[in-house]
Amino acid sequence: MRVSQLLNPTLREVPAEAEIVSHQLMLRAGFIRKVAGGVYTYLPLALRVLRKIEQIIREEMNAKGGQELLLPIVQPSELWKETKRWDIYGPEMFRLKDRHDREFCLGPTHEEVITDLVRGEVRSYKQLPLLLYQIQNKYRDERRPRFGLMRGREFIMKDLYSFDRDAEAGAESYRKMYEAYTKIFSRCGLTFRPVEADAGAIGGTGGTHEFMVLADSGEAAVVFCPACAYAANVEKAESQPADIGGNAPVEGKKEVHTPTVKTIEQLAEFLDLEKAKLIKTVVFKGDDQFLVVMVRGDREINEVKINNTLGPFINLRMAEPGEVRELFGSEPGFIGPVGLRDGITTAADLEVMKMPGAVCGANKKDYHLLNVIPGIDFKPDYVLDLRMVEAGEPCPCCGVPLQEARGIEVGQVFNLGTKYSEALKATYLDEKGQEKLCYMGCYGIGVSRTMAAAIEQNHDTNGVIWPIPIAPFECIIVPVSLKSEAVVETSEKLYAQMLEAGIEVIIDDRDERPGVKFKDADLIGYPLRINIGEKSLAEGKVELFRRKTGQMELLDIEQVMTTVM
Ligand code: ATP
Ligand code: MG
Ligand code: MG
Ligand code: MG
Repeated sequence: MRVSQLLNPTLREVPAEAEIVSHQLMLRAGFIRKVAGGVYTYLPLALRVLRKIEQIIREEMNAKGGQELLLPIVQPSELWKETKRWDIYGPEMFRLKDRHDREFCLGPTHEEVITDLVRGEVRSYKQLPLLLYQIQNKYRDERRPRFGLMRGREFIMKDLYSFDRDAEAGAESYRKMYEAYTKIFSRCGLTFRPVEADAGAIGGTGGTHEFMVLADSGEAAVVFCPACAYAANVEKAESQPADIGGNAPVEGKKEVHTPTVKTIEQLAEFLDLEKAKLIKTVVFKGDDQFLVVMVRGDREINEVKINNTLGPFINLRMAEPGEVRELFGSEPGFIGPVGLRDGITTAADLEVMKMPGAVCGANKKDYHLLNVIPGIDFKPDYVLDLRMVEAGEPCPCCGVPLQEARGIEVGQVFNLGTKYSEALKATYLDEKGQEKLCYMGCYGIGVSRTMAAAIEQNHDTNGVIWPIPIAPFECIIVPVSLKSEAVVETSEKLYAQMLEAGIEVIIDDRDERPGVKFKDADLIGYPLRINIGEKSLAEGKVELFRRKTGQMELLDIEQVMTTVM
């Protein structure tokens, strides 16, 4: 590639709308241009980076037996109604109608479509396991699209879905994907942590991990152990209630560490309760496994399906207004409405309920149940883990003091269980001819977000410093002056040689001042720059500049190829 022909409009000024480094640098270095809020055009250099990340992902997915396919972006509402997510998903879903008034959405995720495929095509246990993936645009009408590619409304995701015979086989798929993700982000040259996003204490072992690229601009706070692999997400600033969900293996469908949810305003925002029409149940988990259960409260409590299966030991009954319930340890809890607007439960109530040994009082007749046990009397929609793991505390695994860092969620692996296969009836026949539900998992990587995260982690005041495996070009040749025939000739010769050798090389053949060329090369972040100038060339030498270290070497022209390869 020749810079003179490349569509790569670099900017000297920092664009005002860009708040974080990756967004600023991607605009300045001519990688992206905004088309609408959260919707961008990827210019040629950006596309090269994205394709490289995708290629790494493909290789690792294929290595684990993944098969690539391509699902449609436009998805009919009927499928989403079968899983009830047409209503649950909320305003984050882009919805549209065709000329016959039929409803569709632009896929924010593809559990429905893939499970529909599998229910139609899979008959026998012999066809399992199936690991199917695609790399494609996703659409989410984010509440706050921002930070460029970091939180777009159209973005590129790799999503893989696993279909297995049972939980054990499902766990194996999960393990494979976890391994693949570790390889992918290592190969991209990124510093990252897999973080337990699910403590799994209620009713089972862990069911989801997030992969966090460590960078100061990250939206999540991560505590991690410098000595062992322990890491936990201590903050979920942008958690969405209508995420993927799942019903296995924990009883709470989604468990998140949310020490930032401390006020009723934050809780309201987290659960999006103002807009929620459905009743939601939440379990708060504290230090003493202390549980409080809440239900959205525009409706009668009787609408909540409670199965009191506990026999004579537990007295599950309605509380009287004013009746006080003390809550200790893992004792049965208290179920009642959280009325954010009607004041049924106040912010003060919420604060009190979170305290170990808290006292809760019913404030309306027939609105509160006593002695309910989450997971037995009902399955909560959310399990919020309020335990604060703090930097400086001893690591729960090895005792070394924990450290804190900010993290960018670049991927997530999720053990879904049978939530979608049940709703969509994706079954297979086992050896005995018995019909069984497919056991599922889903695994996402934000490809475009990974590109942004790579910049957040690898830059300096001059620009991007691409890790070599995902750099748009590995090497740029800069003929320092086009006036010297020797310079031009040598540059062109070296360029042809490198191309021949399969090195990803670009030549800055523009008639620009050397300073301009160097600045642009630094801004764009090519890992290697070869300066070919008249003076050194007279002695048979060229300069090799390494972007990452800032190191400049004077090489014999013959040495260049062996040094670069
Ligand atoms: P977040 O918590 O940041 O909203 P998410 O948990 O909703 O992300 P997932 O449903 O787990 O996202 O999707 C898988 C991956 O897709 C994420 O780990 C992230 O890398 C990427 N991703 C999600 N939303 C966006 C977005 N709006 N823009 C760019 N990438 C995104
Ligand atoms: Mg998330
Ligand atoms: Mg989200
Ligand atoms: Mg996620």
